[in-house]
Amino acid sequence: MPPQLRLGVLALQGAVLEHVEALRRALRELRLEGEILTVKKSAEVDLINGIVIPGGESTVIGRLAKRFGLLNKLRESIEAGLAVMGTCAGMVLLAKEVVDAKLGPVDQPILRMMDARVVRNAFGRQRESFEVDLSIPALGREPFRAVFIRAPIIEKALSNRVEILARFEDKIVAARQDNMLASSFHPELTNDPRLHQYFLRLILGEA
Ligand code: GLN
Repeated sequence: MPPQLRLGVLALQGAVLEHVEALRRALRELRLEGEILTVKKSAEVDLINGIVIPGGESTVIGRLAKRFGLLNKLRESIEAGLAVMGTCAGMVLLAKEVVDAKLGPVDQPILRMMDARVVRNAFGRQRESFEVDLSIPALGREPFRAVFIRAPIIEKALSNRVEILARFEDKIVAARQDNMLASSFHPELTNDPRLHQYFLRLILGEA
């Protein structure tokens, strides 16, 4: 019997349905059974073994999560081993330290879990959104088409627990720390399921 996966997508704001679809596809192609919940309440976090924090607007997601008690709940659950994948704004929410490329230090509710200093809007106005083929060795030899939209980067890993999965122009754009996976780009906006599949393997203890 393959293990039953129950996956959540934090559904306060942002690219929620795209991640639901991407997870569904990743499950299907790995021939895994699983169901996907959209998570809006802290009690729902107890029902899942992995959660995606999507891209969107990190200040909005963080404020709503705080108001609904989800920020504390997620922190406790991730600390206790819940697997989490944060994309774009989700990467911002996972970080221990966040600064804005233009405004400097920002005071917004975040989880402060990943040993990383993240810079918001790191590519500036000229390059608000763009696509590149990235090398991500953990996903295999084929390059990964990465869509960046007002993307953050990890400026600095704050401990050696952070495993760097991908760089673009020397900037860290994908990383993992134990049960936490973060990407600057939007894997849910292309048809390549490999990052979501990597997340599923991480949940299963196979990555
Ligand atoms: N710049 C946004 C933020 O920091 C993230 C953009 C995105 O998720 N596409 O919230």
